[in-house]
Amino acid sequence: MEVEEIVAAINKSYQAENWQEVKRLNSFLADIEIDRKYEIFQHWPEVVQIELTSKCNAQCIMCSHYYEFNDCGHEISDSVLIKFEELLPYCKLVLLNGYGEPFISKHFIHCLKLLQKYNVKAMITTNLSILTDEMLRYIPDVFSEINVSCNGYDAVTYERVHRGLDFGKFEMNLSRLMKVCDNKNITLSCVAMAETIIYIPEIVRFANKYGIHKIRFGRLGISAFIRNYEQDLIHYSNVAAYYFGEAEKIAQLYGIRLIYPENYCKQPDDNLLNGEIQEITNIKFKYDSTYQMRLRNEFLQYMDYKTYGQIDRKYDNTPVHCIGICDWVAKGLYIDTQGNMFTCCESDFVNYQGNWNSENSFKIRKYFYSGFLPNFCKNCPFILNGELKMLSCEKMEQLYLSNDYLI
Ligand code: SF4
Ligand code: SF4
Repeated sequence: MEVEEIVAAINKSYQAENWQEVKRLNSFLADIEIDRKYEIFQHWPEVVQIELTSKCNAQCIMCSHYYEFNDCGHEISDSVLIKFEELLPYCKLVLLNGYGEPFISKHFIHCLKLLQKYNVKAMITTNLSILTDEMLRYIPDVFSEINVSCNGYDAVTYERVHRGLDFGKFEMNLSRLMKVCDNKNITLSCVAMAETIIYIPEIVRFANKYGIHKIRFGRLGISAFIRNYEQDLIHYSNVAAYYFGEAEKIAQLYGIRLIYPENYCKQPDDNLLNGEIQEITNIKFKYDSTYQMRLRNEFLQYMDYKTYGQIDRKYDNTPVHCIGICDWVAKGLYIDTQGNMFTCCESDFVNYQGNWNSENSFKIRKYFYSGFLPNFCKNCPFILNGELKMLSCEKMEQLYLSNDYLI
């Protein structure tokens, strides 16, 4: 079947409101176009990530909400929701996340209704601090995966990282959620950092207590603003490998699947391990209220000078060889509350400017087809966790370099 014939078949199914068939044909078309290395796509995104809100009710120590206090936060507008709805007939999966907490969005329930209407499954990451009875009624039907953010196993460890949240309430909501959902659909979502690495075996035990069968550890986003360089496990790779190894043993015992950055899947060097443990133990926990207020004041100054958030990014490629194309570039799209469109949530470039086939998107598709990873994809958590099905990258130093710095 040629591309034009598939497009005609998609349009016919669309007229008949046969959304399942539209999605099936759209996927078929996507595979053909990617296989032929087309730079202009006639298929629509299969996976759409949408930011319902960029506000959050927490101030976690590794997040910009730690000092922004929602000053940069927005709720999605009705016009962006209309653009989003146009994509749903073609789309198979929606991720309801951005830089905020989606469960606090006033559009949350409306969005779940839209997903039901177009037979779209959803994934979400939530801090689970809020969970109403109405949400619980929709959740089991709509969500194929719920990632619950959790970087602690008791009130002390949890509330130290997730400032502003209450561990008791979190546990209560987790129990309520587990009652209505299949536990296959719940993932504990954690950040791998120096502060938490030594207790990750306890996090595995905590997950088991609630019947959770999957835990995902993402790499820490280094922030030049928070200055959390000392928290980056890249400096303590033997400690990371050791504790992930210990956590893995416990996880296997409980039948829990553990996902963590691939650069820590190694045998730790015993000679280096003790020195690194010593270094980690000596790191003073600096993320208290005083430090938070200091960053808050700096942030307000940047806001006054209108220079906050200016980031120097290189829009070129790296020497890292890759084979294939990123799943997100091929089939995905990220839309923020303002309607800006990006390749994925890790990219700071507005790639599509309302047009899935813009100049920028050709450039990015070309980088992948030419066999070199684009610069903004360095240190991508999806690559490091081995979660991209259509892309493999050469393991070289440049792949693991952080992208985050302010000018
Ligand atoms: S819950 Fe998520 S979005 Fe909110 S402050 Fe924590 S890390 Fe940031
Ligand atoms: S940052 Fe990661 S997910 Fe985003 S386009 Fe690059 S490789 Fe894909």
